[in-house]
Amino acid sequence: MSRSYCVVGGGISGLVAAYRLRVSAGPDASITLFDPADRLGGALRTERIGGQPMEVGAEAFITRRPEVPALLGELGLAGRQVGTTGVRPLIYSQARLHPLPANTLQGVPTQPSSMRGLVDDATVARIADERSRPLRWAAGADPSVAELVGDRFGEQVVARSVEPLLAGVYAGSAANIGVRSALPALATQLDRGAASLTDAACEVLAASTVPRDAPIFGAVDGGYAVLVDELVRRARAHWRQVGVEAVHRSPHGWDLVDDEGARHHADAVVLAVPAPRMARLVAEVAPRTAAAARRIAVASTALVALALPGGTPLPQHSGVLVAGGERLHAKAITLTTRKWGPRGNVELVRLSYGRFGDDLARNVGDEELLSWAALDLHTVFGIHAEPVDHHVQRWIDAMPQYGPGHVELIAELRAGLPPGLAVAGGYLDGIGVPACVASATRAAASLVTARVAR
Ligand SMILES: Cc1cc2nc3c(=O)[nH]c(=O)nc-3n(C[C@H](O)[C@H](O)[C@H](O)COP(=O)(O)OP(=O)(O)OC[C@H]3O[C@@H](n4cnc5c(N)ncnc54)[C@H](O)[C@@H]3O)c2cc1C
Repeated sequence: MSRSYCVVGGGISGLVAAYRLRVSAGPDASITLFDPADRLGGALRTERIGGQPMEVGAEAFITRRPEVPALLGELGLAGRQVGTTGVRPLIYSQARLHPLPANTLQGVPTQPSSMRGLVDDATVARIADERSRPLRWAAGADPSVAELVGDRFGEQVVARSVEPLLAGVYAGSAANIGVRSALPALATQLDRGAASLTDAACEVLAASTVPRDAPIFGAVDGGYAVLVDELVRRARAHWRQVGVEAVHRSPHGWDLVDDEGARHHADAVVLAVPAPRMARLVAEVAPRTAAAARRIAVASTALVALALPGGTPLPQHSGVLVAGGERLHAKAITLTTRKWGPRGNVELVRLSYGRFGDDLARNVGDEELLSWAALDLHTVFGIHAEPVDHHVQRWIDAMPQYGPGHVELIAELRAGLPPGLAVAGGYLDGIGVPACVASATRAAASLVTARVAR
């Protein structure tokens, strides 16, 4: 008899899990996908703005990780992978634009000279001196990025070099993100006994096999919608446009209760919803997993996507990352058509608002966000431009915070899962799309190989 699977959540994690289940379990397996949203894809969402496809959720993937290029290849979409134009981002700090320092590891400096202008002379001297100060590091330690980098290089390096990059990835602050999650290769070098943070960062950069001039980011021509549509087509899952409210054990697997009160049976289940939602779903059947998931904090963010008239004088840079403590509303600005290349006769720009700990993405209205966007573009680039089109997108509780101890927390979360129940998502092994693909692949494999009681 063929097996039945339910996948809860139709973001990239749920879609990849459904697709992998279809490939492994075969055409006769019953796969039901639950998601109450108006379309599948979750935080992968492509809209038409100014007549052009534009991402209003995730926009890219890291090319150094193999998962997304491999998945595109598997789906016959390798030809749709595009790279950035090669222009670099700027940092907005002390109310000025600065080039992004070269030769850093996610903002952690390896050469004092590259930080000149961004930080003061005393900090440059401190960076130069770091190698000569003894480093105390206990193997396996996981301080916050702010603690480690602040102690070795000073607060300015944290606020002006590291924090802008972390804010872009996690909508979080260096004080809340653990070194082992944000900079795993750096933590490994420190565990191996690197004598200083500079040495550890140099080792990581030297070990990189990616050519220096290769694009760091890739994207999908036509938008992530192309990947989402293909996964939906290949998974051939039955999409029920409802939310799941509860998961119960049944004599032969699991019963899911949807938000209309209907029950659905499955031999095995993948939960691919954000951590706070997952915690509620498994409170009864996996209390240890639920308790661990409740400890994962989340941040919200709002995006303002603008189509500005063609020819708007934007700089030849991919965007602007904003240092901590600046008097600017936006935490990042992406100059989409500079970063990825021209599209039609518009300049596409994306501004991100909201960081961990503020309630801005929930509470600030669309009109106010649009007026902030106009003000921020004027403050940063000195331009006044009337958008020809716009879109405001909110992502509430969508950015998990990888705090100190996250790796152990996730081990605990997974250890509490009974056989036949698996989890996937951006709160597990990395927030990015590649890590989501990996977690979904792992989840599906664990269910197909697990013996399911019948
Ligand atoms: C604004 C933003 C920008 C980002 N930029 C990038 C980037 O450039 N590059 C990158 O690699 N990563 C980026 N990320 C991270 C990445 O996009 C996400 O981690 C990833 O898309 C999460 O996918 P997911 O499927 O795990 O979760 P989600 O996309 O959150 O999907 C979860 C799904 O579950 C559904 N759901 C919720 N509750 C229920 C329920 N009770 N029952 C059924 N379904 C439910 C939701 O409707 C949703 O569709 C970004 C994230 C955000 C928010």
